[in-house]
Amino acid sequence: MEQAVFKKNDVLTVTIEDLGAEGEGIGKVDGYPIFIKDAIIGDVVSVKIMKAKKNYAFGKLEKVLTPSSFRVEPKCEFHKQCGGCQIQAMDYRKQLEWKQNKIYNNLKRIGGFSEELLQKVTEPIVGMENPYHYRNKAQYPIGMDKEGNLIAGFYAGRTHSIVANTRCFLGPSENELILEFILSFMKENSISAYNEIDHSGLVRHVLIRSGFRTGEIMVCLVINGESMPKAEKFVEGVLGVELMLSGGSLTESEEGVSEGGLAESEEGIRNGQQVGKITKRIKSICLSINMENTNVIMGQTIRTLYGDPYITDYIGGVKFQISPLSFYQVNPVQTEKLYGLALEYAGLTGNETVWDLYCGIGTISLFLAQKAKQVYGVEIVPQAITDARRNAVLNGMGNAEFIVGRAEEVLPEYFAEYERDHSSEKACADVIVVDPPRKGCDTACLETMVKMQPKRIVYVSCDSATLARDLKYLAENGYGIERVRGVDQFGHTGHVETVCCLQRVNM
Ligand code: SAH
Repeated sequence: MEQAVFKKNDVLTVTIEDLGAEGEGIGKVDGYPIFIKDAIIGDVVSVKIMKAKKNYAFGKLEKVLTPSSFRVEPKCEFHKQCGGCQIQAMDYRKQLEWKQNKIYNNLKRIGGFSEELLQKVTEPIVGMENPYHYRNKAQYPIGMDKEGNLIAGFYAGRTHSIVANTRCFLGPSENELILEFILSFMKENSISAYNEIDHSGLVRHVLIRSGFRTGEIMVCLVINGESMPKAEKFVEGVLGVELMLSGGSLTESEEGVSEGGLAESEEGIRNGQQVGKITKRIKSICLSINMENTNVIMGQTIRTLYGDPYITDYIGGVKFQISPLSFYQVNPVQTEKLYGLALEYAGLTGNETVWDLYCGIGTISLFLAQKAKQVYGVEIVPQAITDARRNAVLNGMGNAEFIVGRAEEVLPEYFAEYERDHSSEKACADVIVVDPPRKGCDTACLETMVKMQPKRIVYVSCDSATLARDLKYLAENGYGIERVRGVDQFGHTGHVETVCCLQRVNM
Protein backbone atom coordinates (compact mmCIF):
# COMPACT_ATOMS: atom_id res chain seq x y z
CA MET A 1 0.00 0.00 0.00
CA GLU A 2 1.28 3.42 -0.89
CA GLN A 3 2.07 5.98 1.75
CA ALA A 4 -0.93 8.28 2.14
CA VAL A 5 -0.63 11.73 0.77
CA PHE A 6 -2.74 13.31 3.47
CA LYS A 7 -2.16 14.31 7.07
CA LYS A 8 -3.94 15.41 10.23
CA ASN A 9 -6.71 18.01 9.76
CA ASP A 10 -7.03 17.36 6.02
CA VAL A 11 -10.67 17.30 4.96
CA LEU A 12 -11.62 14.70 2.36
CA THR A 13 -14.70 13.30 0.66
CA VAL A 14 -15.07 9.55 1.08
CA THR A 15 -17.60 6.87 0.18
CA ILE A 16 -18.16 4.34 2.97
CA GLU A 17 -17.73 0.79 1.71
CA ASP A 18 -17.60 -1.35 4.82
CA LEU A 19 -17.66 -1.29 8.61
CA GLY A 20 -14.82 -2.11 10.99
CA ALA A 21 -14.95 -4.54 13.91
CA GLU A 22 -16.43 -1.86 16.19
CA GLY A 23 -19.06 -0.82 13.63
CA GLU A 24 -17.17 2.26 12.46
CA GLY A 25 -17.45 3.22 8.77
CA ILE A 26 -14.54 2.47 6.45
CA GLY A 27 -13.89 4.50 3.33
CA LYS A 28 -10.82 4.36 1.12
CA VAL A 29 -8.75 7.04 -0.55
CA ASP A 30 -6.19 5.61 -2.97
CA GLY A 31 -6.61 2.25 -1.29
CA TYR A 32 -5.80 3.75 2.11
CA PRO A 33 -8.58 2.96 4.64
CA ILE A 34 -10.01 5.66 6.87
CA PHE A 35 -12.05 4.66 9.91
CA ILE A 36 -14.93 7.02 10.57
CA LYS A 37 -17.25 6.61 13.54
CA ASP A 38 -21.00 7.09 12.85
CA ALA A 39 -20.64 6.75 9.08
CA ILE A 40 -22.49 3.82 7.53
CA ILE A 41 -22.14 1.74 4.39
CA GLY A 42 -23.21 3.76 1.34
CA ASP A 43 -22.75 7.23 2.88
CA VAL A 44 -20.69 9.82 1.04
CA VAL A 45 -19.15 11.87 3.82
CA SER A 46 -16.85 14.74 4.44
CA VAL A 47 -14.21 13.57 6.89
CA LYS A 48 -11.48 15.35 8.81
CA ILE A 49 -8.34 13.29 9.40
CA MET A 50 -7.60 13.10 13.12
CA LYS A 51 -4.79 10.58 13.15
CA ALA A 52 -2.85 9.35 10.11
CA LYS A 53 -0.95 6.09 10.60
CA LYS A 54 1.27 4.31 8.13
CA ASN A 55 -1.42 2.05 6.70
CA TYR A 56 -4.67 3.62 7.83
CA ALA A 57 -6.20 6.72 9.41
CA PHE A 58 -8.92 7.73 11.85
CA GLY A 59 -11.21 10.49 10.76
CA LYS A 60 -14.00 12.54 12.30
CA LEU A 61 -17.31 12.67 10.48
CA GLU A 62 -17.78 16.31 9.49
CA LYS A 63 -20.91 15.97 7.39
CA VAL A 64 -22.93 13.33 5.59
CA LEU A 65 -22.91 14.75 2.05
CA THR A 66 -25.10 12.06 0.46
CA PRO A 67 -26.85 9.80 2.96
CA SER A 68 -26.75 6.09 2.30
CA SER A 69 -29.99 4.44 1.19
CA PHE A 70 -29.50 2.23 4.27
CA ARG A 71 -29.69 5.19 6.67
CA VAL A 72 -32.63 5.14 9.08
CA GLU A 73 -33.72 7.49 11.84
CA PRO A 74 -32.24 6.02 15.04
CA LYS A 75 -34.70 5.53 17.89
CA CYS A 76 -32.27 6.82 20.47
CA GLU A 77 -31.23 10.45 20.42
CA PHE A 78 -27.99 9.56 22.22
CA HIS A 79 -26.85 6.88 19.79
CA LYS A 80 -23.74 8.82 18.77
CA GLN A 81 -22.49 9.73 22.25
CA CYS A 82 -23.40 6.50 24.02
CA GLY A 83 -20.96 3.62 23.85
CA GLY A 84 -23.74 1.01 23.81
CA CYS A 85 -24.82 1.05 20.15
CA GLN A 86 -22.66 1.73 17.10
CA ILE A 87 -24.82 1.13 14.05
CA GLN A 88 -28.35 2.13 15.02
CA ALA A 89 -28.43 4.51 12.05
CA MET A 90 -28.13 1.58 9.61
CA ASP A 91 -31.21 -0.35 8.54
CA TYR A 92 -31.42 -3.57 10.55
CA ARG A 93 -31.55 -5.80 7.46
CA LYS A 94 -28.37 -4.16 6.22
CA GLN A 95 -26.79 -4.75 9.64
CA LEU A 96 -27.57 -8.44 9.27
CA GLU A 97 -26.22 -8.57 5.74
CA TRP A 98 -23.01 -6.88 6.87
CA LYS A 99 -22.62 -9.34 9.77
CA GLN A 100 -23.16 -12.30 7.49
CA ASN A 101 -20.58 -10.94 5.05
CA LYS A 102 -18.13 -10.39 7.88
CA ILE A 103 -18.30 -14.07 8.85
CA TYR A 104 -18.06 -15.18 5.21
CA ASN A 105 -15.09 -12.94 4.46
CA ASN A 106 -13.19 -13.96 7.58
CA LEU A 107 -13.67 -17.64 6.77
CA LYS A 108 -12.47 -16.99 3.24
CA ARG A 109 -9.57 -14.66 4.05
CA ILE A 110 -8.28 -16.01 7.37
CA GLY A 111 -9.60 -19.56 7.16
CA GLY A 112 -8.60 -20.02 3.53
CA PHE A 113 -11.88 -21.77 2.68
CA SER A 114 -13.09 -21.70 -0.92
CA GLU A 115 -16.09 -19.67 -2.00
CA GLU A 116 -17.58 -22.83 -3.41
CA LEU A 117 -17.49 -24.51 0.00
CA LEU A 118 -18.62 -21.41 1.89
CA GLN A 119 -21.59 -20.90 -0.39
CA LYS A 120 -22.60 -24.50 0.16
CA VAL A 121 -22.33 -24.50 3.97
CA THR A 122 -23.43 -20.97 4.91
CA GLU A 123 -27.00 -20.64 6.10
CA PRO A 124 -28.81 -17.28 6.37
CA ILE A 125 -28.04 -15.30 9.51
CA VAL A 126 -30.65 -15.53 12.27
CA GLY A 127 -31.86 -12.00 13.04
CA MET A 128 -34.39 -10.66 15.52
CA GLU A 129 -37.98 -9.92 14.62
CA ASN A 130 -37.78 -6.86 16.82
CA PRO A 131 -34.18 -5.82 17.39
CA TYR A 132 -34.95 -3.53 20.35
CA HIS A 133 -35.46 -4.12 24.06
CA TYR A 134 -33.56 -7.39 23.80
CA ARG A 135 -31.17 -7.02 26.72
CA ASN A 136 -32.12 -8.65 30.02
CA LYS A 137 -29.32 -6.94 31.93
CA ALA A 138 -28.49 -3.25 32.20
CA GLN A 139 -25.93 -1.49 34.36
CA TYR A 140 -26.46 2.23 34.68
CA PRO A 141 -23.74 4.41 36.21
CA ILE A 142 -25.07 7.04 38.61
CA GLY A 143 -23.42 10.44 38.83
CA MET A 144 -23.92 14.19 38.71
CA ASP A 145 -24.11 16.52 35.73
CA LYS A 146 -22.30 19.87 35.58
CA GLU A 147 -25.21 21.60 37.33
CA GLY A 148 -25.05 19.14 40.19
CA ASN A 149 -28.19 17.16 39.25
CA LEU A 150 -28.26 13.44 39.89
CA ILE A 151 -28.15 11.50 36.65
CA ALA A 152 -28.27 7.89 35.48
CA GLY A 153 -27.25 6.73 32.05
CA PHE A 154 -24.42 5.16 30.09
CA TYR A 155 -20.78 5.80 29.59
CA ALA A 156 -19.90 7.66 26.43
CA GLY A 157 -17.84 5.39 24.15
CA ARG A 158 -14.38 4.65 25.62
CA THR A 159 -14.77 7.19 28.42
CA HIS A 160 -16.07 7.46 31.95
CA SER A 161 -18.31 10.45 31.41
CA ILE A 162 -21.98 9.65 31.84
CA VAL A 163 -24.52 10.36 29.12
CA ALA A 164 -27.71 11.06 31.08
CA ASN A 165 -30.34 8.78 29.60
CA THR A 166 -32.79 6.59 31.45
CA ARG A 167 -34.55 5.45 28.27
CA CYS A 168 -32.36 2.90 26.55
CA PHE A 169 -33.98 1.11 23.64
CA LEU A 170 -31.92 -2.02 24.11
CA GLY A 171 -33.22 -2.76 27.62
CA PRO A 172 -36.79 -3.34 28.85
CA SER A 173 -38.95 -0.21 28.84
CA GLU A 174 -39.81 -0.47 32.52
CA ASN A 175 -36.19 0.14 33.50
CA GLU A 176 -36.83 3.81 32.87
CA LEU A 177 -39.52 3.93 35.55
CA ILE A 178 -37.34 2.11 38.05
CA LEU A 179 -34.39 4.41 37.40
CA GLU A 180 -36.46 7.56 37.60
CA PHE A 181 -37.77 6.36 40.93
CA ILE A 182 -34.26 5.67 42.22
CA LEU A 183 -33.04 9.12 41.18
CA SER A 184 -35.97 10.86 42.85
CA PHE A 185 -35.58 8.71 45.97
CA MET A 186 -31.90 9.63 46.19
CA LYS A 187 -32.71 13.32 45.78
CA GLU A 188 -35.49 13.33 48.38
CA ASN A 189 -33.37 11.47 50.89
CA SER A 190 -30.11 13.28 50.18
CA ILE A 191 -28.34 10.10 49.09
CA SER A 192 -25.23 10.92 47.12
CA ALA A 193 -23.94 9.56 43.84
CA TYR A 194 -20.47 8.06 43.75
CA ASN A 195 -17.70 10.29 42.45
CA GLU A 196 -14.89 8.20 41.00
CA ILE A 197 -12.41 11.07 41.01
CA ASP A 198 -12.23 11.45 44.79
CA HIS A 199 -13.85 8.08 45.64
CA SER A 200 -16.64 9.81 47.60
CA GLY A 201 -20.43 9.39 47.52
CA LEU A 202 -22.58 6.30 47.82
CA VAL A 203 -24.47 4.97 44.80
CA ARG A 204 -22.18 3.80 41.98
CA HIS A 205 -24.39 1.81 39.65
CA VAL A 206 -27.88 0.42 39.32
CA LEU A 207 -28.06 -3.10 37.93
CA ILE A 208 -31.44 -4.24 36.62
CA ARG A 209 -31.87 -7.84 35.46
CA SER A 210 -35.03 -9.29 33.98
CA GLY A 211 -36.21 -12.81 33.31
CA PHE A 212 -37.87 -12.43 29.92
CA ARG A 213 -39.74 -15.71 30.19
CA THR A 214 -40.78 -15.41 33.83
CA GLY A 215 -41.14 -11.63 33.87
CA GLU A 216 -39.13 -11.46 37.11
CA ILE A 217 -37.05 -8.36 37.83
CA MET A 218 -34.01 -7.79 40.05
CA VAL A 219 -32.92 -4.34 41.16
CA CYS A 220 -29.42 -4.16 42.62
CA LEU A 221 -27.71 -0.97 43.82
CA VAL A 222 -23.94 -1.03 43.77
CA ILE A 223 -22.83 1.13 46.67
CA ASN A 224 -19.61 2.53 48.06
CA GLY A 225 -20.60 1.75 51.64
CA GLU A 226 -21.72 -1.02 53.97
CA SER A 227 -25.41 -0.16 53.94
CA MET A 228 -28.12 1.87 52.32
CA PRO A 229 -29.77 4.63 54.35
CA LYS A 230 -33.57 4.33 54.54
CA ALA A 231 -33.37 0.84 53.06
CA GLU A 232 -36.92 -0.12 54.08
CA LYS A 233 -38.35 2.98 52.54
CA PHE A 234 -36.31 2.29 49.43
CA VAL A 235 -37.74 -1.22 49.11
CA GLU A 236 -41.26 0.09 49.61
CA GLY A 237 -40.58 2.70 46.99
CA VAL A 238 -39.29 0.25 44.38
CA LEU A 239 -42.29 -1.98 45.00
CA GLY A 240 -44.50 1.08 44.84
CA VAL A 241 -43.33 2.22 41.45
CA GLU A 242 -46.49 0.89 39.83
CA LEU A 243 -48.76 2.24 42.55
CA MET A 244 -47.56 5.74 41.87
CA LEU A 245 -48.56 5.45 38.26
CA SER A 246 -51.27 2.88 37.90
CA GLY A 247 -54.28 1.22 39.30
CA GLY A 248 -54.55 -1.51 36.73
CA SER A 249 -54.49 -5.22 37.34
CA LEU A 250 -52.73 -8.01 35.59
CA THR A 251 -54.58 -10.21 33.14
CA GLU A 252 -53.59 -13.74 32.20
CA SER A 253 -52.47 -12.90 28.71
CA GLU A 254 -50.21 -10.12 29.89
CA GLU A 255 -48.37 -12.27 32.35
CA GLY A 256 -46.00 -13.84 29.83
CA VAL A 257 -43.46 -11.48 28.38
CA SER A 258 -42.97 -11.99 24.68
CA GLU A 259 -39.89 -11.55 22.54
CA GLY A 260 -38.13 -8.33 23.38
CA GLY A 261 -39.66 -8.07 26.86
CA LEU A 262 -42.20 -5.29 26.81
CA ALA A 263 -41.13 -4.17 23.37
CA GLU A 264 -44.56 -4.06 21.88
CA SER A 265 -46.03 -2.18 24.80
CA GLU A 266 -43.78 0.82 24.86
CA GLU A 267 -46.71 3.19 24.68
CA GLY A 268 -48.74 0.95 26.92
CA ILE A 269 -46.16 1.00 29.66
CA ARG A 270 -47.44 4.36 30.71
CA ASN A 271 -51.03 3.22 30.83
CA GLY A 272 -52.24 1.72 34.05
CA GLN A 273 -52.44 -1.95 33.15
CA GLN A 274 -48.96 -2.33 31.78
CA VAL A 275 -47.38 -0.48 34.65
CA GLY A 276 -49.39 -2.60 37.05
CA LYS A 277 -47.21 -5.56 36.08
CA ILE A 278 -44.00 -4.13 37.34
CA THR A 279 -44.42 -4.48 41.08
CA LYS A 280 -45.53 -8.07 40.95
CA ARG A 281 -42.50 -8.80 38.84
CA ILE A 282 -39.94 -7.46 41.30
CA LYS A 283 -38.55 -10.57 42.96
CA SER A 284 -35.24 -9.33 44.26
CA ILE A 285 -33.91 -6.03 45.59
CA CYS A 286 -30.33 -6.12 46.75
CA LEU A 287 -27.12 -4.26 47.36
CA SER A 288 -23.69 -5.03 46.01
CA ILE A 289 -21.01 -3.63 48.28
CA ASN A 290 -18.14 -2.17 46.28
CA MET A 291 -15.85 0.08 48.34
CA GLU A 292 -12.82 -0.43 46.12
CA ASN A 293 -11.29 2.33 44.08
CA THR A 294 -11.78 0.43 40.83
CA ASN A 295 -13.44 0.39 37.41
CA VAL A 296 -14.94 -3.02 38.16
CA ILE A 297 -18.66 -2.43 38.49
CA MET A 298 -19.84 -5.10 40.89
CA GLY A 299 -18.69 -5.68 44.46
CA GLN A 300 -18.55 -9.32 45.55
CA THR A 301 -20.61 -8.94 48.76
CA ILE A 302 -24.34 -9.09 48.10
CA ARG A 303 -26.97 -8.09 50.70
CA THR A 304 -30.58 -8.90 49.96
CA LEU A 305 -33.05 -6.19 50.97
CA TYR A 306 -36.15 -7.86 49.58
CA GLY A 307 -37.12 -11.22 48.09
CA ASP A 308 -34.50 -13.72 46.99
CA PRO A 309 -30.87 -13.04 46.10
CA TYR A 310 -31.69 -14.24 42.57
CA ILE A 311 -34.32 -14.25 39.87
CA THR A 312 -35.33 -17.25 37.78
CA ASP A 313 -35.45 -17.54 34.02
CA TYR A 314 -35.57 -20.20 31.32
CA ILE A 315 -33.70 -20.80 28.10
CA GLY A 316 -35.67 -23.40 26.18
CA GLY A 317 -36.69 -26.00 28.74
CA VAL A 318 -33.78 -25.28 31.08
CA LYS A 319 -34.26 -23.25 34.24
CA PHE A 320 -31.63 -20.88 35.63
CA GLN A 321 -31.24 -18.95 38.86
CA ILE A 322 -29.52 -15.66 38.15
CA SER A 323 -27.84 -13.77 40.97
CA PRO A 324 -26.40 -10.24 40.68
CA LEU A 325 -22.94 -11.70 40.00
CA SER A 326 -23.92 -14.55 37.67
CA PHE A 327 -22.86 -14.55 34.08
CA TYR A 328 -25.96 -15.02 31.96
CA GLN A 329 -26.45 -14.43 28.26
CA VAL A 330 -27.88 -10.93 27.78
CA ASN A 331 -30.16 -11.65 24.83
CA PRO A 332 -32.28 -14.62 25.88
CA VAL A 333 -34.44 -14.71 22.75
CA GLN A 334 -31.45 -15.09 20.42
CA THR A 335 -29.55 -17.27 22.88
CA GLU A 336 -32.33 -19.81 22.68
CA LYS A 337 -32.01 -19.81 18.90
CA LEU A 338 -28.21 -20.06 19.11
CA TYR A 339 -28.25 -22.98 21.54
CA GLY A 340 -31.05 -24.58 19.53
CA LEU A 341 -28.72 -24.56 16.53
CA ALA A 342 -25.80 -25.87 18.59
CA LEU A 343 -28.04 -28.71 19.73
CA GLU A 344 -29.25 -29.41 16.21
CA TYR A 345 -25.68 -29.36 14.85
CA ALA A 346 -24.59 -31.73 17.62
CA GLY A 347 -27.04 -34.29 16.18
CA LEU A 348 -27.62 -36.09 19.48
CA THR A 349 -29.64 -39.28 19.75
CA GLY A 350 -29.35 -39.89 23.49
CA ASN A 351 -26.31 -42.17 23.46
CA GLU A 352 -23.55 -39.61 23.12
CA THR A 353 -20.83 -38.42 25.43
CA VAL A 354 -20.40 -34.69 24.88
CA TRP A 355 -17.72 -32.27 26.09
CA ASP A 356 -18.74 -28.62 26.40
CA LEU A 357 -15.57 -26.53 26.65
CA TYR A 358 -15.68 -22.94 27.96
CA CYS A 359 -19.05 -23.79 29.47
CA GLY A 360 -19.64 -20.75 31.73
CA ILE A 361 -22.59 -21.47 34.04
CA GLY A 362 -23.39 -24.59 32.02
CA THR A 363 -26.01 -23.07 29.77
CA ILE A 364 -25.07 -24.99 26.63
CA SER A 365 -24.10 -28.09 28.66
CA LEU A 366 -27.57 -28.34 30.20
CA PHE A 367 -29.20 -27.64 26.86
CA LEU A 368 -27.22 -30.59 25.44
CA ALA A 369 -27.78 -32.78 28.50
CA GLN A 370 -31.48 -32.89 27.59
CA LYS A 371 -30.54 -35.03 24.58
CA ALA A 372 -27.17 -36.62 25.44
CA LYS A 373 -26.13 -39.60 27.56
CA GLN A 374 -23.46 -37.65 29.43
CA VAL A 375 -22.09 -34.10 29.27
CA TYR A 376 -18.79 -32.81 30.71
CA GLY A 377 -18.44 -29.05 31.05
CA VAL A 378 -15.10 -27.28 31.49
CA GLU A 379 -14.75 -23.68 32.64
CA ILE A 380 -11.96 -21.59 34.13
CA VAL A 381 -14.04 -19.49 36.58
CA PRO A 382 -14.78 -21.50 39.77
CA GLN A 383 -17.88 -19.43 40.62
CA ALA A 384 -19.37 -20.20 37.22
CA ILE A 385 -18.83 -23.93 37.85
CA THR A 386 -20.61 -23.62 41.21
CA ASP A 387 -23.53 -22.02 39.35
CA ALA A 388 -23.40 -24.72 36.66
CA ARG A 389 -23.61 -27.51 39.25
CA ARG A 390 -26.49 -25.76 41.02
CA ASN A 391 -28.29 -25.29 37.72
CA ALA A 392 -27.89 -29.00 36.95
CA VAL A 393 -29.50 -29.87 40.31
CA LEU A 394 -32.22 -27.26 39.78
CA ASN A 395 -33.16 -29.05 36.56
CA GLY A 396 -32.80 -32.53 37.98
CA MET A 397 -30.10 -33.34 35.45
CA GLY A 398 -27.80 -36.05 36.74
CA ASN A 399 -25.93 -36.49 33.47
CA ALA A 400 -23.92 -33.25 33.51
CA GLU A 401 -20.59 -33.05 35.31
CA PHE A 402 -18.56 -29.87 35.60
CA ILE A 403 -14.81 -29.45 35.88
CA VAL A 404 -12.95 -26.26 36.89
CA GLY A 405 -9.85 -25.50 34.85
CA ARG A 406 -8.42 -24.35 31.58
CA ALA A 407 -9.82 -26.23 28.61
CA GLU A 408 -6.29 -26.53 27.19
CA GLU A 409 -5.13 -28.24 30.39
CA VAL A 410 -8.16 -30.24 31.51
CA LEU A 411 -8.80 -31.89 28.15
CA PRO A 412 -5.19 -33.05 27.57
CA GLU A 413 -5.01 -34.39 31.17
CA TYR A 414 -8.14 -36.49 30.78
CA PHE A 415 -7.02 -37.68 27.38
CA ALA A 416 -3.52 -38.63 28.60
CA GLU A 417 -5.11 -40.63 31.42
CA TYR A 418 -7.32 -42.44 28.94
CA GLU A 419 -4.39 -43.20 26.66
CA ARG A 420 -2.42 -44.64 29.61
CA ASP A 421 -4.86 -47.31 30.70
CA HIS A 422 -8.22 -46.81 28.96
CA SER A 423 -9.91 -47.03 32.36
CA SER A 424 -11.56 -43.63 32.14
CA GLU A 425 -14.12 -43.49 29.40
CA LYS A 426 -14.56 -39.78 29.99
CA ALA A 427 -12.17 -38.75 27.27
CA CYS A 428 -14.15 -40.62 24.61
CA ALA A 429 -16.22 -37.83 23.16
CA ASP A 430 -18.75 -38.34 20.43
CA VAL A 431 -19.31 -34.62 20.14
CA ILE A 432 -17.23 -31.66 21.38
CA VAL A 433 -18.82 -28.23 21.69
CA VAL A 434 -16.64 -25.15 22.22
CA ASP A 435 -17.71 -21.58 22.99
CA PRO A 436 -14.44 -19.76 23.71
CA PRO A 437 -13.91 -16.07 24.48
CA ARG A 438 -12.85 -13.73 21.66
CA LYS A 439 -9.30 -15.00 21.49
CA GLY A 440 -10.55 -18.42 20.40
CA CYS A 441 -9.19 -21.85 21.39
CA ASP A 442 -5.68 -22.53 22.58
CA THR A 443 -3.63 -24.76 20.26
CA ALA A 444 -3.22 -27.43 22.97
CA CYS A 445 -6.99 -27.58 23.21
CA LEU A 446 -7.47 -27.93 19.45
CA GLU A 447 -4.76 -30.60 19.26
CA THR A 448 -6.40 -32.72 21.91
CA MET A 449 -9.83 -32.28 20.36
CA VAL A 450 -8.47 -33.72 17.13
CA LYS A 451 -6.79 -36.62 18.96
CA MET A 452 -10.05 -37.48 20.70
CA GLN A 453 -11.63 -37.98 17.25
CA PRO A 454 -15.20 -36.95 18.04
CA LYS A 455 -17.67 -37.49 15.20
CA ARG A 456 -18.66 -33.87 15.29
CA ILE A 457 -17.33 -30.58 16.62
CA VAL A 458 -19.73 -27.69 17.17
CA TYR A 459 -17.94 -24.35 17.39
CA VAL A 460 -19.85 -21.39 18.86
CA SER A 461 -17.89 -18.18 18.41
CA CYS A 462 -18.19 -14.51 19.30
CA ASP A 463 -15.32 -13.53 16.99
CA SER A 464 -15.37 -14.83 13.45
CA ALA A 465 -11.69 -13.93 12.90
CA THR A 466 -10.41 -16.35 15.57
CA LEU A 467 -13.11 -18.81 14.53
CA ALA A 468 -11.68 -18.77 11.01
CA ARG A 469 -8.15 -19.35 12.33
CA ASP A 470 -9.28 -22.32 14.47
CA LEU A 471 -11.43 -23.82 11.71
CA LYS A 472 -8.41 -23.72 9.42
CA TYR A 473 -6.51 -25.88 11.91
CA LEU A 474 -9.42 -28.27 12.35
CA ALA A 475 -9.94 -28.52 8.58
CA GLU A 476 -6.26 -29.36 8.11
CA ASN A 477 -6.62 -32.07 10.73
CA GLY A 478 -9.56 -34.03 9.47
CA TYR A 479 -12.67 -31.96 10.17
CA GLY A 480 -14.78 -30.57 7.34
CA ILE A 481 -17.22 -27.69 7.71
CA GLU A 482 -20.79 -28.90 7.26
CA ARG A 483 -22.82 -25.88 8.30
CA VAL A 484 -22.16 -22.27 9.34
CA ARG A 485 -24.70 -19.79 10.59
CA GLY A 486 -24.55 -16.33 12.12
CA VAL A 487 -26.88 -15.40 14.97
CA ASP A 488 -27.42 -11.75 15.80
CA GLN A 489 -27.23 -11.53 19.57
CA PHE A 490 -26.36 -7.84 19.73
CA GLY A 491 -28.39 -5.78 17.26
CA HIS A 492 -27.07 -2.25 16.60
CA THR A 493 -23.56 -3.22 17.66
CA GLY A 494 -20.72 -4.59 15.56
CA HIS A 495 -20.82 -8.01 17.24
CA VAL A 496 -22.11 -11.25 15.81
CA GLU A 497 -22.13 -14.86 17.04
CA THR A 498 -21.45 -17.75 14.72
CA VAL A 499 -22.23 -21.42 15.11
CA CYS A 500 -20.45 -23.96 12.98
CA CYS A 501 -20.78 -27.73 12.59
CA LEU A 502 -17.71 -29.77 11.65
CA GLN A 503 -17.75 -33.42 10.78
CA ARG A 504 -14.87 -35.86 10.89
CA VAL A 505 -13.75 -36.76 7.42
CA ASN A 506 -12.64 -40.35 6.90
CA MET A 507 -8.91 -40.12 6.33
N1 SAH B 1 -20.83 -21.28 26.95
C1 SAH B 1 -21.14 -20.28 27.93
C2 SAH B 1 -20.07 -19.22 28.16
C3 SAH B 1 -19.26 -18.78 26.98
S1 SAH B 1 -18.27 -17.36 27.29
C4 SAH B 1 -22.46 -19.66 27.63
O1 SAH B 1 -22.96 -19.75 26.53
O2 SAH B 1 -23.04 -19.04 28.52
C5 SAH B 1 -16.65 -18.06 27.38
C6 SAH B 1 -16.34 -18.69 28.72
O3 SAH B 1 -15.03 -19.24 28.65
C7 SAH B 1 -16.33 -17.74 29.90
O4 SAH B 1 -17.19 -18.26 30.87
C8 SAH B 1 -14.87 -17.74 30.38
O5 SAH B 1 -14.75 -17.61 31.78
C9 SAH B 1 -14.39 -19.08 29.91
N2 SAH B 1 -12.94 -19.26 29.67
C10 SAH B 1 -12.05 -18.34 29.26
N3 SAH B 1 -10.85 -18.91 29.06
C11 SAH B 1 -10.98 -20.23 29.35
C12 SAH B 1 -10.08 -21.35 29.32
N4 SAH B 1 -8.82 -21.20 28.94
N5 SAH B 1 -10.56 -22.55 29.66
C13 SAH B 1 -11.85 -22.71 30.04
N6 SAH B 1 -12.73 -21.69 30.10
C14 SAH B 1 -12.31 -20.47 29.76
